[in-house]
Amino acid sequence: MTVHQQLDSGELSELERRYRLERERRVRPDGAAQYRTADAEFGYYAADPYTTGPDEREPRRDTVDVAVIGGGFGGILAGAHLRSRGVESIRIVEKGGDFGGTWYWNRYPGIHCDIESHVYLPMLDETGYVPEWKYAPGDEIRRHAVRIARHADLYADALFSTAVTALTWDEASETWIVATDRGDAFRATYVITATGTLTDPKLPGIPGIEAFKGHTFHTSRWDYGYTGGTPEGGMTGLAGKRVGIVGTGATAVQAVPMLAEDAAHLYVFQRTPSTVDVRANRRTTAQDVGADREGWARRRRENYLRIVSGEHTEQDLVADRWTESAGLLEKLLPSFRRHGDREAFEAGYETADAAKMNELRARVDRIVTDPETAHKLKPWYRYACKRPTFSDLYYPAFNRDDVTLVDTADTHGIERVTEDGVVVGGIRYALDCLIFATGFDVGASGIHSGRLPVRGRGGVGLLDRWARRGPRTLHGFTSNGFPNLIQLGSLQNASSVNFTHILDEQARHAAALVAAAEAADALVEPSTETEDAWLATLTEGAPDHEWFHAECTPGYYNREGRGRPNGPTAYPHGAVAFHELLARWREESLGEVLRGRADSARGTGDRPSGGRSTPGGCR
Ligand code: NDP
Repeated sequence: MTVHQQLDSGELSELERRYRLERERRVRPDGAAQYRTADAEFGYYAADPYTTGPDEREPRRDTVDVAVIGGGFGGILAGAHLRSRGVESIRIVEKGGDFGGTWYWNRYPGIHCDIESHVYLPMLDETGYVPEWKYAPGDEIRRHAVRIARHADLYADALFSTAVTALTWDEASETWIVATDRGDAFRATYVITATGTLTDPKLPGIPGIEAFKGHTFHTSRWDYGYTGGTPEGGMTGLAGKRVGIVGTGATAVQAVPMLAEDAAHLYVFQRTPSTVDVRANRRTTAQDVGADREGWARRRRENYLRIVSGEHTEQDLVADRWTESAGLLEKLLPSFRRHGDREAFEAGYETADAAKMNELRARVDRIVTDPETAHKLKPWYRYACKRPTFSDLYYPAFNRDDVTLVDTADTHGIERVTEDGVVVGGIRYALDCLIFATGFDVGASGIHSGRLPVRGRGGVGLLDRWARRGPRTLHGFTSNGFPNLIQLGSLQNASSVNFTHILDEQARHAAALVAAAEAADALVEPSTETEDAWLATLTEGAPDHEWFHAECTPGYYNREGRGRPNGPTAYPHGAVAFHELLARWREESLGEVLRGRADSARGTGDRPSGGRSTPGGCR
């Protein structure tokens, strides 16, 4: 008999009652307004600690074929796919001092990716690289990003420590003018945006946060100058120090065991416990993953994507806790293949969810020896309410005498920061170092943040254009009125938990759009009718997840408890079907987004022809 067959309806309704109470205990009236981003007076928390730059350089005023905003995996993969289509003039503009994106910024101790390395690292077939661990450390992932950038020759014209500040379409030359915070104002025939989703560090607006006189930083800007050591540990600077870490999300779950090793005393300030499932990291050989066969990595990624997107498969090549719990991802992902009868599905879902959560709560009791600490560490919500995490080191850290778990649920988080520590429930915790593992401003990066204005045809702003009726795109990539602007990310397309795979397919598609426009000497721009048709496709099958997220404890998945309204946000039939749809569209219909250039901008007109950063270009 399986675990979930043992659950009766009484147990399910008791769980429901408990989940409701835990939610009510945590919802704050200020919702998402409780946070502050690391700008203005908090700019210190966002500064780049990993570069000695920025190096002095002349502002760029030249013309490139493609400007790519963002040097994380999205931007690098766009560069690599453009290269393989013969595009020579590619300029990647990146805020950090090197390539890597998420993996450039996040270098906290213990950092690993909890998606299997053989499916997470892109372009393994192309670069011949075979990871040696099932779950790779962050540094290996960052070095792989650099490997791809070198492989595709993307360093030569990259601009690092540079943030794009405005994009303006110049009708006369039919190019984009790209302005940056380093005084650049260069032109690009195409702009590809790949600015990520979890990029700007977020801080809780705890009263007194400015007053703290000890050392403090955000996990995505780890100060090894203070702590000493590396992501592998050895933080000798923490000897004799009382360290506090705020937050218990996926980042803290990895960092806490390392801090526990090196701090004199570690205080973990928890508001909502994460689910922490088995990790089982281990060394792997090329043979284990079939890396001696041509196309092995692509086959493995496809297989993984099928499983975590709800498609049927004969075989589970990765076989980990993500694939084992794939059915429960239905509520997490608006884009998921949904089969069969909904009512039967929902009933099965509820028992499977309860069984999974019971299993995870039992794991706490098995590992954590102090019953009171174990009680506080148990997550009381449905599985897909919060980002699942995986660790075999996190719970054992709480069995140490020098680690204290401080539950802050009843006070909605830390109450107050003082000059020398924090206050929770009237108790003062004296600290030498306070680390914020409080996450990121979600989905507000790049051209959607309002901080990077985009002016298209007629000087119309992208966000103004969308203000009344919401975002309008074709497949999430292109928009009417904004020619040759191609967006990567998670808008109106299909996403999944292995985001680098999603980005790889998006980058392939972006490169195909550029190549087709070049071959036809045309612009890429969908009509408003094409956008309407895409929106109708998204609306038609949009899943009903509203009730689910309304019952969840607050977090960034449900806008801090306000819920996640249903709507046409994603392709409703899953990432695999979306990739098939894109491939078919490229074969049969790509011509529908190609528009002739104005004569004035063609060849001898105003369109700049000189000053390309690399010779030849893609035309
Ligand atoms: P999260 O946003 O997931 O977590 C923030 C944490 O801070 C939560 O535990 C939150 O509690 C807590 N918090 C916020 N404000 C307060 C407060 N005032 N007092 C006490 N606690 C507070 O950020 P992470 O950096 O952990 O993760 C961000 C994302 O990065 C993940 O969701 C994941 O997508 C990704 N990631 C991926 C990894 C991988 O291996 N692939 C590894 C690490 C991160 P509460 O829940 O109550 O709001």
